[in-house]
Amino acid sequence: MPELPEVETVRRGLAPAMEGARFTKVEVRRGDLRWPLPKDFARRLAGKTVTGLGRRAKYLLADLSSGDVLIMHLGMSGSFHVFRQDAGKSPGHYYHERAQHVAHDHIVFHMSSGAVVTFNDPRRFGSMKIVPRAKLDAEPLLNKLGPEPLGNAFDAAMLARACMGKKTSLKAALSDQRVVAGLGNIYVCEALHRARLSPKRVAATIAGKTGAPNERAESLTEAVRAVLNAAIKDGGSSLRDHRLTDGDLGMFQHNFQVYDREGEKCRTPGCRGTVKRIVQTGRSTFYCPVCQK
Ligand SMILES: [Zn+2]
Repeated sequence: MPELPEVETVRRGLAPAMEGARFTKVEVRRGDLRWPLPKDFARRLAGKTVTGLGRRAKYLLADLSSGDVLIMHLGMSGSFHVFRQDAGKSPGHYYHERAQHVAHDHIVFHMSSGAVVTFNDPRRFGSMKIVPRAKLDAEPLLNKLGPEPLGNAFDAAMLARACMGKKTSLKAALSDQRVVAGLGNIYVCEALHRARLSPKRVAATIAGKTGAPNERAESLTEAVRAVLNAAIKDGGSSLRDHRLTDGDLGMFQHNFQVYDREGEKCRTPGCRGTVKRIVQTGRSTFYCPVCQK
């Protein structure tokens, strides 16, 4: 499932094709995604201009000139592809490579920028929804989300407050979208390794009794930001379905320190540990028992 860096990478790929451009035509080839698209989906978009393309956690938010916001989620296997009709006479390798997958191109946006944006989703866990901007604060998909980890509201004090008194593991706390939004299994494992904190550690131990942050809270917030920024710079992690909007692969999987590295040498300089895999709340956790305490 894509996490924040993958979605941010997609946002950056879509922005030049969509921002400031009008939907000249919207094709809904298959409307039964995670939930059915509303009957008036295409009509509410057609002719409207995308005034801005933002992101909240793992959701893409396209602000429209009509005052609506188009909310888009990639689900498990969703991806966006941008084709530029003016992009030369010979289609690139990716065009051929994915020609056989066009059966899963469920939604096609024709933009006044000349770009054709397709939403492809073999498993159809992705979703789209249109809501008036004025009602966005009350939107159930978004209104329980914690702060953005790369925004100003996320800091050691906030994280410590959220973990104060929590008897769950740090892994579970960081994976909780109400504590901090957009992190999933990969980046929680990587951030904990970077902060040298065990995923099994009790979440409350990053806060004092009064909820004040200690050094662990400081290093953990720092690690979360550093890992996410590094992953965004690499175009996210391509394990299965994640692709950049031009078909390229994200590269951060080559920089994993612990994720998916069970039995391999820990990459912390000077550490002789071996990466271990355990299962926490039904998901694999990868960590180094030697340098993560
Ligand atoms: Zn180690």
